[in-house]
Amino acid sequence: MISPRERDPRLQAFTGRTRRTESIPGVNQIHSETRRTKIVATVGPASWDPSVLEQMIIAGVDVFRLNFSHGDEATHVRVIKDVRLISERLDKEVGILGDLPGPKLRVGEYPQGVVDIIHGSTVTITPDDVPGTETLIPVDWPELAQALSVEDTVYLADGSIRLRVVANDGRTVECEVEVGGPLSSHKGMNLPGVEAGLDSVSEDDLRWVEFAVANQLDYIAVSFVRKAEDLDPVLNKLKELRSDIPIIAKIEKPQAADAVEEIVDRATGGIMVARGDLGIEVPLSKVPVLQKSLIGAAGRASKTVITATQMLASMVSAKRPTRAEVTDVATAIYDGTDAIMLSEETAVGEFPVEAVRVMDQIARGTETDLPYWDWVLNRVPQDDQDVSDSVTQSAVIAAYRLNLQAIVVPTASGRTAKVVAAHRPQVPVLAVTHSVRTQRQLKLIFGVRPVVNDQTTEIRNLLYECADDAVRFGAAASGDLIAIVAGLSDMKLGTNLFEVHRVP
Ligand code: ATP
Ligand code: MG
Ligand code: MG
Repeated sequence: MISPRERDPRLQAFTGRTRRTESIPGVNQIHSETRRTKIVATVGPASWDPSVLEQMIIAGVDVFRLNFSHGDEATHVRVIKDVRLISERLDKEVGILGDLPGPKLRVGEYPQGVVDIIHGSTVTITPDDVPGTETLIPVDWPELAQALSVEDTVYLADGSIRLRVVANDGRTVECEVEVGGPLSSHKGMNLPGVEAGLDSVSEDDLRWVEFAVANQLDYIAVSFVRKAEDLDPVLNKLKELRSDIPIIAKIEKPQAADAVEEIVDRATGGIMVARGDLGIEVPLSKVPVLQKSLIGAAGRASKTVITATQMLASMVSAKRPTRAEVTDVATAIYDGTDAIMLSEETAVGEFPVEAVRVMDQIARGTETDLPYWDWVLNRVPQDDQDVSDSVTQSAVIAAYRLNLQAIVVPTASGRTAKVVAAHRPQVPVLAVTHSVRTQRQLKLIFGVRPVVNDQTTEIRNLLYECADDAVRFGAAASGDLIAIVAGLSDMKLGTNLFEVHRVP
């Protein structure tokens, strides 16, 4: 596909140009936020030291992910406190996403750390709560022997270890190791095609929802969603707690991929293409096709999408990524993802800060060449009668025609900024909000630069203040044309206002 710059020489001005205004606190950080693709990084033993968190924020993390399948509550509380303190000190807000464990079978404790499951050896899976060894694998699941039959395949640790069931004594299961590899505490177990009969959202998950609300997290990810209704227990719990934390449905089951339109509709935050488990549940060769179709489905619904797992996997133990990984990250960006995610790379890897830097560079390198023009015309379907879609699309098209420097969006909830971003403008979407919560949530959205500033609600003043903000936050200068896009709540039309404004 040809890029809009090749198609239209007028677009050559759009190189993410920014200007400097010294002296205003907070503004210099804003200037560096010219990357459009957002970076999510999982926190773990390799990164929860405050000095590492700080370096990761400086290197460009937009949202930290806490995986509630690993680490205890006290550790997560400490990380949350540290992240908030550091980002305040750096004047660089970040979002925090809490990832619910979900109905995932996991191996128990490996007190000695990592063990090697040896190719060709025989291992026993037991429901007993015993320490794990090279040959004894504890899994806290009493129905283990009922569910598994001789010849079934068992995968461990994101599919890196493959076992074949050879015997079943009605309580424990004996397996031959067909593909060996390292195993440690709480690594996942997958049984493709075997119905494990687990609740989609457990009591434990709901306790973590309470934790997320109590600690004011910015997103909650729901694991192993199969159908839209699987999100309801979490949505109901949030309602009960009077919380509006957006939820992200992790798509990692073939049933979820089939039902993605309904899931995207119900997931208040968006979806995650969770390629780790997806790549075990469906043939690996289908993962690229599914990735494209899932990202497309999120785009059509103007919802957010994160692409996750093994993006820079070799960087767990190497300072440089492979060419293939660089291309994979770029492909997700070409596919239209909002955010790219690091898992092991930052949770347990040797080079967490470097991994963030590498993602930052790949994103910047790719963003000069994206099909922006095609996106504004086709990413969100035009066949509905939606006022917000129509107004925001007009604004993004006008940005190209009129050479606008920025699209400034005053927003309380962040909704208008997300709808504008769904059309993937090449110019920055400066989202001005009075709420630091909205600011943190918008850190996940492609092309959005969220800033906090108090605003008046009187419409004429609001428009002039948006223009002032564009200058103050370095998105435009006096004499430039900008767009201002907003929703006037008393009209009840969603996003209904688009003004072209000359910065005084
Ligand atoms: P999920 O299916 O939710 O992605 P996962 O087991 O793949 O679960 P990731 O968050 O992708 O977990 O992280 C990769 C690995 O990093 C984990 O398997 C675990 O070994 C380690 N890890 C992550 N977070 C922590 C933590 N807080 N404490 C200890 N180890 C962690
Ligand atoms: Mg994972
Ligand atoms: Mg997973």
